[in-house]
Amino acid sequence: MPTIFSRIVAGEIPCYKIAEDEKYFAFLDINPLAEGHTLVIPKAEGDYIFDMSDEDYSGLTLFAKKVAKAIEKAIPCKRVGVAVMGLEVPHTHIHLIPINKETDMYF
Ligand code: 5GP
Repeated sequence: MPTIFSRIVAGEIPCYKIAEDEKYFAFLDINPLAEGHTLVIPKAEGDYIFDMSDEDYSGLTLFAKKVAKAIEKAIPCKRVGVAVMGLEVPHTHIHLIPINKETDMYF
């Protein structure tokens, strides 16, 4: 049974795509905590980020860094917050959340 994120990558469920390469995919969160809240995922399924191979883990985080830099340019923000939650969807993902004020508290 594919995860909902695999179905998004396959184009079976619509999303607002931000970026994609051979192994990784980034799209806007459907329930954003801030404008530009983006999820970065490996196309390959796996539930836990720290079970990834070193190569795939490095690839994912470097891809997320590129996406975060693009978000910084598109949305004025103090920084792009990074979170790995995994409470809801059993498919490794990194949350990138633009933080706009010193007082913003999301978690
Ligand atoms: P987590 O598993 O890290 O707790 O959160 C999963 C995230 O995926 C949530 O922020 C939720 O809004 C997002 N999400 C769940 N289903 C969908 C979906 O079908 N499309 C999109 N774009 N985001 C989703």
